[in-house]
Amino acid sequence: MAIPFFKEMRIGGYLIKQKLLGRKRYPLVLMLEPLFRCNLACVGCGKIDYPDAILNRRMTAQECWDAADECGAPMVAIPGGEPLIHKEIGEIVRGLVARKKFVSLCTNALLLEKKLDLFEPSPYLFFSVHLDGLKEHHDKAVSQKGVFDRAVSAIKAAKARGFTVNVNATIFDGHPAEEIAKFLDLTVELGVGVSMSPGYAYERAPDQEHFLNRTKTKKLFRDVFAMGKGKKWNFMHSGLFLDFLAGNQEYECTPWGMPARNIFGWQKPCYLLGEGYAKTFKELMDTTDWETYGTGKYEKCADCMAHCGYEPTAATAAINNPLKAMWVSLRGVRTTGPMAPEIDMSKQRPAQYIFSAEVQKRLSEIRKDEAAAAQEKAARKASTAA
Ligand code: SF4
Ligand code: SF4
Repeated sequence: MAIPFFKEMRIGGYLIKQKLLGRKRYPLVLMLEPLFRCNLACVGCGKIDYPDAILNRRMTAQECWDAADECGAPMVAIPGGEPLIHKEIGEIVRGLVARKKFVSLCTNALLLEKKLDLFEPSPYLFFSVHLDGLKEHHDKAVSQKGVFDRAVSAIKAAKARGFTVNVNATIFDGHPAEEIAKFLDLTVELGVGVSMSPGYAYERAPDQEHFLNRTKTKKLFRDVFAMGKGKKWNFMHSGLFLDFLAGNQEYECTPWGMPARNIFGWQKPCYLLGEGYAKTFKELMDTTDWETYGTGKYEKCADCMAHCGYEPTAATAAINNPLKAMWVSLRGVRTTGPMAPEIDMSKQRPAQYIFSAEVQKRLSEIRKDEAAAAQEKAARKASTAA
């Protein structure tokens, strides 16, 4: 599931502080995935293709809060799976808000209306509703009819109750620019902010045909932004990230900017790409070989322009070069003229396919834990009976 973004976030101070402290790597948003189970099976999803024993696992509320404390990022995005399936989701969000974290709860909205009572409106809480386009397009993307109507109804209900709602859209190849522009007009009608990101080419997503490559991404976003001149589309992105999507900036990703914590631990190297896990946030930062990831360095990163890798880069660029950021936000995204040169891909290392081995490793750990718990329970029962 895609994640919303920064606009509302008061992170300027945090960024400046990190710069003054001379920190090279620091997190901006914790991507917290308390479960992988979902009530949809979208064709572009790379998160739910696990055996049941893994889909049934949950992070506890305490584990979620500990992850937020350990990482220290000012914002926590909760994707999944579908977080509203988690029985403790109200408690998890309350605990994070109490820690003054900006919380972006990402949901496909099927359960949202029913579960609104679990939450209280707060300047720290945003619902980020997964909406990939207009009705026909969205229902096709999520492989189920009627989801668009339920999501729109939930958005209206949440707004009526005083919650802040954004939508997040993942963009795939074959989505015409005109339709994306109409979808963005709809977000204005609904009164919601919007984040958009080209879908990352998850190797396990059922539909492998429709992931955008970098050249197509840039052209598509240029076309979309050209149609938006003079309109009031309310993007939850920094101007420089939008400028990057339109091919006007050449950035390297910042994979540690949005570290991911899930039921397996801290995911290496980023939210999109799982190539091993660390037990603690410190271990993630200290032991990941960051230099071996990113476009031009690793085959699996070749087409990535996703916001969770590049929005932190754009945010840092804005702090380092505020005049440029101001210029882009005043002038708008340039949609004609030459593009920034593309990163050289000739030296990227080949992809390694370790997913199945990782899943097997996790499954045997889960089975070991379950066997130990069953043994303990049996021993307790025996000692009570004696
Ligand atoms: S709603 Fe999100 S998590 Fe669920 S299947 Fe779709 S993309 Fe995946
Ligand atoms: S390019 Fe960066 S953000 Fe994208 S998958 Fe690779 S490491 Fe992750």
